[in-house]
Amino acid sequence: MNRRPSPLDNDQCRSCSSFSDYIKATKKKKDAENGITGAVTGDSGNSNNSGYTRRRSDCPLDKDELGNKSWGLLHTMAANYPVQPSQAQKTDMKTFFNVFAKFYPCHYCAEDLREELKIDPPKVDSQEALSQWLCRLHNKVNVKIGKEVFDCSKVNERWRDGWLDGSCDY
Ligand SMILES: Cc1cc2nc3c(=O)[nH]c(=O)nc-3n(C[C@H](O)[C@H](O)[C@H](O)COP(=O)(O)OP(=O)(O)OC[C@H]3O[C@@H](n4cnc5c(N)ncnc54)[C@H](O)[C@@H]3O)c2cc1C
Repeated sequence: MNRRPSPLDNDQCRSCSSFSDYIKATKKKKDAENGITGAVTGDSGNSNNSGYTRRRSDCPLDKDELGNKSWGLLHTMAANYPVQPSQAQKTDMKTFFNVFAKFYPCHYCAEDLREELKIDPPKVDSQEALSQWLCRLHNKVNVKIGKEVFDCSKVNERWRDGWLDGSCDY
């Protein structure tokens, strides 16, 4: 079936690029063409090449959505991992991360992840060990891309129990 050319055609990897970065870059370019200078502070009023100012919620995942949802799955898996896993569960969890790192659709993210797994393999001896290991892994990515470091002492509040103030209780 024919489809409209996409701004991503040159890149061929939606999961490796960020829609918000694209919108910011497009706005900067348009501003430069119109002689407007200054920092870009938000997305409101910006549009993509097709003129859409908001992204639909049912588009293919970009790098950031994929990352956010993937971390959600990974941390929730770690939060629900057994306190005393069997040998088979330990082996399966190691295998899971190694396979995940082979197929993660952002290829340069996956490449770094594979390297990281060689340096610091998954700690699969308990729920606590796995959750803390994953928190540290996520923080390494946070540092790499300039995001805030997360306090790993709060990882079970964030991903398993809900915040101590009861704001996640229902
Ligand atoms: C394996 C993997 C590798 C990635 N590699 C790259 C990369 O190389 N380059 C790149 O640009 N993007 C990468 N990403 C995407 C990136 O990490 C973010 O997911 C993306 O930038 C969206 O960020 P976000 O603000 O939604 O928060 P995310 O980083 O997605 O975090 C989601 C939520 O997790 C919680 N959180 C944050 N840090 C921690 C932590 N340390 N432990 C526990 N919980 C935490 C916070 O509540 C946060 O809101 C990767 C994603 C994954 C899953």
